[in-house]
Amino acid sequence: MIICQKIYQAKLKKDITIIRDDLYPFLGGGNKGRKIDSIGKEILTQAYDAVVTTGGIQSNHCRATAIFCAQYKLQCTLVLHGDKDKFLKESGNAKIMRMSGANIIFVDQPKDIGPTMDQAMFQYKDIGLKPYYLWGGGHNHQGGKAYIDAVHQLDPNLLIDYLFVACGTGSTQAGIMAGLSKRNESCQVIGISVARNQQSAQEHVYNFYNELCDSFSIEKRHQTIVLDDYLCGGYELYNDELKKVSDCSVRDYGFALDTTYSGKAFWGMQQYILKHNLHGNIVFWHTGGIFNFLA
Ligand SMILES: *Cc1c(COP(=O)(O)O)cnc(C)c1O
Repeated sequence: MIICQKIYQAKLKKDITIIRDDLYPFLGGGNKGRKIDSIGKEILTQAYDAVVTTGGIQSNHCRATAIFCAQYKLQCTLVLHGDKDKFLKESGNAKIMRMSGANIIFVDQPKDIGPTMDQAMFQYKDIGLKPYYLWGGGHNHQGGKAYIDAVHQLDPNLLIDYLFVACGTGSTQAGIMAGLSKRNESCQVIGISVARNQQSAQEHVYNFYNELCDSFSIEKRHQTIVLDDYLCGGYELYNDELKKVSDCSVRDYGFALDTTYSGKAFWGMQQYILKHNLHGNIVFWHTGGIFNFLA
């Protein structure tokens, strides 16, 4: 299901089409709901009975994975990095993870994530289960395929010259690019990095886009563009301007733009349109983040 909404941007004097994937029908919505539904198809058809994954204490991906596993009665282990006391107190994704029945393990150091996930995998196998290893962010082929499929569902009459989207692991952007290539659409897809510098982000998106095109026999027709000009110093960081866009989003548009993902991408898009005086049809892919907004 894809919902589009046109908004008028007074500052830019133009209409922008918003793809409201924040409304994806999954608790909390957003791209992690869409990814896990696609990844889940593989988990279910190949009869896995446990999932091991990782993220932070307010991870959208871990929230979505925990809910999915609970629905299908799969064992779930979340290897979380961050402050355990905060996790036990906070609402949003943390609260839902707590309620999901998932096994939650905390690690202090990022270097402990891999070994802890390996150990959880081993323990499931040891008791005769078939566990599924899921990279943080739902970054795998099925996660990328979710976006090839999503683009396929877009209204064929939707005109796109520039499409903006938040870029974290890059699987959402790469999937959208592959989906548009498959549709024979020659627009520019511009990722706004929320964490990585330009070179690293572009490398990740480029490689994953190529992988997706190769495995789904799609002709490559998109250039990889990820901007790091709107990072505000890094993941979860923001400046006053971005904070203002986020704070005013409810009043201005009637949807929420958080400062970590969708707001950063939206603010970056606004800046980029002004800087380059972009014309044509502009589309913003809203990837969600309502719980980050409310946190
Ligand atoms: C994870 C996330 C992203 C980034 O998606 P990637 O596929 O990792 O690039 C964007 N927006 C929200 C709300 C997210 O949770």
